[in-house]
Amino acid sequence: MLKTDSPPAHLAKYWSLLTADQKSWLAKAVAFADAITLDETKRSDSENTFRRDLFEAACKEGLGALPFPTTYGGSGGDYLSFVLVNEEFARRCVPIMSSLGVHVLCQEPVYKHGTEEQKKKYLTPSAGGQYLAAFGLTEPNAGSDTAAIATTAKLAGNEYILNGTKTFITSGASADYFIVMARLLNEDGSKEGSAGITSFIVDKNFKGFQIGQKFDMLGMRGYSTCEIVFSDCRVPKENILGAPGDGRKVALGSLAKGRVTIAAQATGWAQGALDAALKVVATDKRSENSGQLDYLIGSLVLMVESARALTYQAARSIDSGESDVTLAAMAKIQATDAAMKVSTEAISLAQERGLEPDLLIERIFRDAKAGQIYEGTNQIQRMLIARSLLK
Ligand SMILES: Cc1cc2nc3c(=O)[nH]c(=O)nc-3n(C[C@H](O)[C@H](O)[C@H](O)COP(=O)(O)OP(=O)(O)OC[C@H]3O[C@@H](n4cnc5c(N)ncnc54)[C@H](O)[C@@H]3O)c2cc1C
Repeated sequence: MLKTDSPPAHLAKYWSLLTADQKSWLAKAVAFADAITLDETKRSDSENTFRRDLFEAACKEGLGALPFPTTYGGSGGDYLSFVLVNEEFARRCVPIMSSLGVHVLCQEPVYKHGTEEQKKKYLTPSAGGQYLAAFGLTEPNAGSDTAAIATTAKLAGNEYILNGTKTFITSGASADYFIVMARLLNEDGSKEGSAGITSFIVDKNFKGFQIGQKFDMLGMRGYSTCEIVFSDCRVPKENILGAPGDGRKVALGSLAKGRVTIAAQATGWAQGALDAALKVVATDKRSENSGQLDYLIGSLVLMVESARALTYQAARSIDSGESDVTLAAMAKIQATDAAMKVSTEAISLAQERGLEPDLLIERIFRDAKAGQIYEGTNQIQRMLIARSLLK
């Protein structure tokens, strides 16, 4: 258990800058991670199983809606506190980390664009852990290019009828509701002049909703990642989220914050891999090559600290009310690239031990690759930064 008056070594440089509240959220994350055994952590990865019980326990600790006001059950914390929790969970490979991040990502559009009824119906049980949320944007032929979304929605009386497939949906097979982006057609089924991409809240028990193929991936295992399929899925009219045609605005607004969460997770991965490798290096005899080794370790430490600095800055920009999309993109790139590079080098530093599951370095190495891809690939994020300057 972390004492809120004594910093963990990797956060010493930041300690005086954190508020008492931020330190106490971090202490909660440390205590939560301490209670999970290494065996449990390894099992969720090797067996590819989602720990719903841990998710519910985290929500009971106030982590399920940490950065939202208390009105609908949120904890009233700031985004930097949520970042600290995510960093700690990733550093320790806490099995629910990614689902919790997506869960909070999904509450953002309901909080921002939802009706009062939607907020009452979805936010309060999400905060308490009765509901788990998932985000349905990507399709087999529409990833980076959201304009290519082919899932359709058509108004028929008091319902929207949805048809299509979403893929790589984190928590997909375990979630209770989904934020789904679909192309709203005219009532006669035609596309021309229609409103375009629109967001909906889809419950798992709506008629025509199905779980599709489940994925057995290299990394990010244990998060119920799968396809979800809509076959004439009947969504009540009141479950449209925001205005018709506002779907990309709804999705991208949430992802701008979500990328800071990913940056926090990747910073934690990089720190976790580095710490584990350094423990092994510390037990080795120093040879005449130690200068080269020091150079490498110094470079890796620099990458982790740069990732952390950008991530905290991006979180502070959210907390100041001036969320900066390019800063979020920079933090996401820097941190996920750091996690990939640091975990790769950490395997070399720890030599054959680096490939053993117990050190968690190889797990982080596998997870970090996904971090460079999801919530907007790092290539696309670089283009977004350039375009924000050139527009
Ligand atoms: C573990 C995991 C979990 C995920 N969870 C979710 C989820 O919960 N919900 C969800 O909706 N999605 C999720 N995704 C999907 C993820 O967001 C997409 O994979 C991602 O947006 C990229 O889309 P894509 O795979 O279709 O690749 P594409 O967009 O086809 O890109 C393929 C490659 O081409 C590059 N590229 C594409 N367009 C351009 C361009 N114009 N210029 C230069 N390069 C370009 C990309 O950077 C990438 O390297 C998840 C993915 C993974 C791996």
